[in-house]
Amino acid sequence: MSMDKVHLFYCSKPWRDLSYRLKIEAKGRCSRCGEVIEDFSQLIGHHKIELTEDNVDDPNISLNPIHIEIICFNCHNKEHRRFGNKQHVYIVYGSPLSGKSTLVRELMQHGDIVLDMDALWQAVTFQPEYIKPKNVRFNVFKIRDDILDQIKTRYGQWYDAYIIGGYPDKYERERLAQSLGAEFIYCESTKEECIKRLEQSNKPKQWLEYINDWWEKYSPPGQ
Ligand SMILES: [Zn+2]
Ligand SMILES: [Zn+2]
Repeated sequence: MSMDKVHLFYCSKPWRDLSYRLKIEAKGRCSRCGEVIEDFSQLIGHHKIELTEDNVDDPNISLNPIHIEIICFNCHNKEHRRFGNKQHVYIVYGSPLSGKSTLVRELMQHGDIVLDMDALWQAVTFQPEYIKPKNVRFNVFKIRDDILDQIKTRYGQWYDAYIIGGYPDKYERERLAQSLGAEFIYCESTKEECIKRLEQSNKPKQWLEYINDWWEKYSPPGQ
C-alpha cells in the first residue's frame, strides 16, 4: 500500500502548525514519561488513531487535538514496535530547515535505518551542523557509500530506510532513487517559511546562505 498521502500530510503546513502549537501547549513535556524536551524537533505529535490513506483526509481524525498525543522520541519508539520485513526505502529531501528530520522522526519506527548526511558529518568530524571540513570528505563519503550499498542490497534485517538530504538537483535525486529502489518524500515548505524558522531558532546567520543556496539549485520533479 502506498503511504504517499500520509507522508504528504505530515509535510503539510496545517499539520506542522498544529503539532507545533500542541508542543508549545504541552510546554515540551512528553505525555507518557513526563520528560521535558526543549528541542521541539525531538518531540512527536503522535496520532492515536493511525493515519491511513482512507482517514488522512478527515480533519476530525488527522487534525483533531483530541486524537493527538505529544510524546518524546523514546516513547514513540516503544509505541511503534513493528514486525515483518518490508524494507521500503525513502529519500527525504527539501530545503535546510524544512523540517526533514522532524518529519522522519514522526514517520520512522524503531529498527529502521536513517542516513542523515548532516548527522554523519557531525559524527565523524565532531563539528557543528553544516561545518564540513573539506579534507575529510572522502572518509565521510566512503561511510555514506557503504551504508547506501547496504540499503541498495537490502543487507541486514532493518525494516525501512530513510535517507535525509537536501538533494535539490532533480537528476542527482532521481539517479539515487533509481539505484536504491527508493520512493521520494518531499518536505514541502516555502523559502519564506524556512527563513522564518531560522529567525525563530538559535542557528547562526550563516544558515541563510544554506537556505538561499538550496532554493537556487532546486529543480522540482517533472520539469
Ligand atoms: Zn516520553
Ligand atoms: Zn506515532
